[in-house]
Amino acid sequence: MNIILLGPPGAGKGTQARVLVERDGMVQLSTGDMLRAAVAAGTEVGKRAKAVMDAGNLVTDEIVIGIISDRLDEPDVKGGAIFDGFPRTLAQADALGDLLAAKGMSLDKVVEMRCDDEELVTRVIGRFTCSGCGEGYHDTFKPPKVEGECDKCDANGFVRRPDDNEDAMRNRLFVYYKETSPLIGYYYAKDNLAMVDGTAAIDEVTAQIAQALKN
Ligand code: ADP
Ligand code: AMP
Repeated sequence: MNIILLGPPGAGKGTQARVLVERDGMVQLSTGDMLRAAVAAGTEVGKRAKAVMDAGNLVTDEIVIGIISDRLDEPDVKGGAIFDGFPRTLAQADALGDLLAAKGMSLDKVVEMRCDDEELVTRVIGRFTCSGCGEGYHDTFKPPKVEGECDKCDANGFVRRPDDNEDAMRNRLFVYYKETSPLIGYYYAKDNLAMVDGTAAIDEVTAQIAQALKN
């Protein structure tokens, strides 16, 4: 099964994708993670993307479509892909449809995760991630069980994203509504859209997604 988790920054896409990876053996295809890896590695793509990402704008369709196209050629996606943060524009959505068709794959469900803006800002500003395994946390909503220690691995370091500040986040929200929210209508028209309440508790959202994927 191949699905898209569609929602604004902070809606919980990464959090829920990791549950699906652990539970169902799917792979998480996060263009944000892939771009951050390119920035960290200092590649040409990373150099072109860094300032754009820090300001909360979108990198070009050409770059992200290229990244996803290459990733879809790797064998592990055959077990089911979760698109997280891609597509983000109508051009990317069209390209994804074409790529999947060309590779003999299909899109089974698009799960829209809806959440209100002030909650999203609070979530993003309190977000941090284990530098060892990438597990995501929140200062208030999902602190590690033992302070300073990852629940999932032995690494004890955490990182915060440079774009998880209020200014960049307000811009990311604006960009979401302008460029990405039209995809809700796009996938509704294709009849594979489901909606979950992203404001619910993490476990409740997991349950709603499981239900949406059954239908
Ligand atoms: P996204 O990938 O959509 O940008 P994340 O999954 O990284 O969002 O979640 C953003 C922040 O909100 C993280 O700190 C995460 O721990 C927290 N979070 C995720 N889902 C919920 C939820 N349902 N309730 C409260 N906090 C949540
Ligand atoms: P994310 O980790 O999904 O919040 O993405 C972080 C940043 O990476 C975004 O604000 C964009 O600058 C960039 N990015 C990630 N995915 C895409 C995409 N599909 N299209 C354009 N830019 C993207």
